[in-house]
Amino acid sequence: MNKTKIDWATMSWNPVTGCRHGCPYCYARRTAHRFDAGLKDANQTDSGLHVLQEKLRATPYPYGFEPTLHRYRLNQPERQADPQTVFVCSMADLFGSWVPTEWIRDVLDACMRAPQHRYLFLTKNPARYLELDRMAMLPHEDNFWYGSTVTNDDAVAMYPMPGKNINAFWSMEPLLGPVDMRKADGLPQWVILGAETGNRSNKVVPHREWVDQIADFCAEKEIPVFYKDNLRAYFQDLQASAFPWIGGVDGG
Ligand code: SF4
Repeated sequence: MNKTKIDWATMSWNPVTGCRHGCPYCYARRTAHRFDAGLKDANQTDSGLHVLQEKLRATPYPYGFEPTLHRYRLNQPERQADPQTVFVCSMADLFGSWVPTEWIRDVLDACMRAPQHRYLFLTKNPARYLELDRMAMLPHEDNFWYGSTVTNDDAVAMYPMPGKNINAFWSMEPLLGPVDMRKADGLPQWVILGAETGNRSNKVVPHREWVDQIADFCAEKEIPVFYKDNLRAYFQDLQASAFPWIGGVDGG
């Protein structure tokens, strides 16, 4: 696990890396490709998935952005005694349709073995949460938070909530358009709002009315909102950020 610059977590942990969603604004893909060793080895399965039993010293991303299980990282939460808020798989979509269920099970089991931490998961495929829950494989622990990335209105209609009695949040980063949360089939307990970063030619600049619409709805429903610094760069007068687990504001 590593300390992270992501402002809503204290550490990131990447037992699985790589993603096939192909989002044009993806920072993780850019990072992974910088360290891609172009490795091809006997561990590669027919489905293009990779398993690393041991750490390779040369690069953290020997297969670039191809889905890879770093098995040697699975015990890292247990070895971290101080409680942390951990963003699980910041360099992947752990719940992507291509990820073997056994990989997800191994990651969730590793989290269960280290209950001192709070775990934040994030996916663009929340249907997988439901699928795992139906298989009784999704922990309902208080310290597990299941996030869905919602970047525009289309996603609201498309994305189901993880299930009853489960901590759920939406990451609206990058915010790419207006989001009418009233359309949602169930509401999250936390919302993260952020803007696109980087220098992409079609980079989306958030509109103030998009932010206000979400903030007003969340205020009405008492849903805490975390405003990322990349959004505050556009709008300096945003309210202080709030976390659901401390029931107050952290001062932004
Ligand atoms: S889901 Fe996340 S990791 Fe995957 S391509 Fe999109 S931004 Fe990158």
